Amino acid sequence: MTQSDKQFSTKLIHFGKEIDKETGASSVPIFQASTFHHFDLENPPVHDYSRSGNPTREALEEYIALLEGGSRGFAFASGMAAISTAFLLLSAGDHVIVTEDVYGGTYRLLTTVLNRLNIDSTFVDMTDFEQVKQALKENTKAVFMETPSNPTLKITDIAEIAAWAKERGLLTMLDNTFMTPYHQRPIELGVDIVIHSATKFLGGHSDVLAGLVVTADESLGRRVKQLQNGLGAVLSAQESWLLMRGMKTLKVRMEASEQSAIKLAQWLQAHPGVEKVYYPGLADHPRGDVHAKQSKGFGAVVSFDVGSGERARRMLGRVKLPLVAVSLGAVESILSYPAMMSHAAMPRDVRLARGITDGLVRYSVGLEDADDLIRDLEQALDL
Ligand SMILES: *Cc1c(COP(=O)(O)O)cnc(C)c1O
Repeated sequence: MTQSDKQFSTKLIHFGKEIDKETGASSVPIFQASTFHHFDLENPPVHDYSRSGNPTREALEEYIALLEGGSRGFAFASGMAAISTAFLLLSAGDHVIVTEDVYGGTYRLLTTVLNRLNIDSTFVDMTDFEQVKQALKENTKAVFMETPSNPTLKITDIAEIAAWAKERGLLTMLDNTFMTPYHQRPIELGVDIVIHSATKFLGGHSDVLAGLVVTADESLGRRVKQLQNGLGAVLSAQESWLLMRGMKTLKVRMEASEQSAIKLAQWLQAHPGVEKVYYPGLADHPRGDVHAKQSKGFGAVVSFDVGSGERARRMLGRVKLPLVAVSLGAVESILSYPAMMSHAAMPRDVRLARGITDGLVRYSVGLEDADDLIRDLEQALDL
């Protein structure tokens, strides 16, 4: 059976390096070494220094490339290290079109760091293709997408924008953190570079910080390799191993969390104390059809509005099961409050204009029993 023959769940377990060729060990060895001996000066070793290449990290990099259906994978010390490195494919004078409600760290990178390097960005509502087209400038070199977006789960039509960008020779990048390759494989839809905060669903246990990049083709892969080695924000061997350990159960975690998320979203929708529920799997999601076309599932993140900041804070103080924290995509449910956490730095009027109201909370559904999560929310919402 060739790798491309295998179903996704088989690839998760049999990704190529799952058995150590040397010893038969049932997991990838952790090569805790910074450098490698040259046994023969004339024939240097395949790996010579761990920033340039470490066998444990390489196993992870091949693993994510296989899962995303790409040519090459790269592992970084965090999601932001991955995103920063990918953006440095651009040069001074270039312009990039970006999803308006992109991850806060990506927004900060573009507006406080890359702008100083004369890499310019325009943020647009990517649910409106016209806005994307209108943002095109003579020096536009790339489009950066994030779908579903955070925290209001807006949907970008990946294939439509990727095709438009390709015609114009623009590089396309997509942050696939929320969906993971289990649900959504952007390279199959024409995207050039897929990026992950593997800290979230891929790692899945709130115990590792990591970022991944996958390139669709080899020539882009060579350019990212040069940047990874040059900038040096690589993932350690220990963390690479831990991430692979988590990724093996991606399918069962995603499926179980999603089932509970659907149940929770429907329950919230019927609750009189909840004004609005954002979840791509609900029938009233404005772009649910676009999402269903490009993704195999809806994921485990449900956002909802309880009407006011006071009610939100009271609920956050009363819940007993979820972690009240930033982050998402873990075995334990995580409830976060954008107005005071991820989007606290955003001016209030800008935040409100983006639908991130004082009453909006984001629930990342974990692996607890769905009825327990609902009972817990029920008592927390009983104001
Ligand atoms: C968390 C997150 C990031 C940043 O990743 P880190 O691992 O925290 O650096 C980027 N994009 C999305 C969508 C995220 O949720």
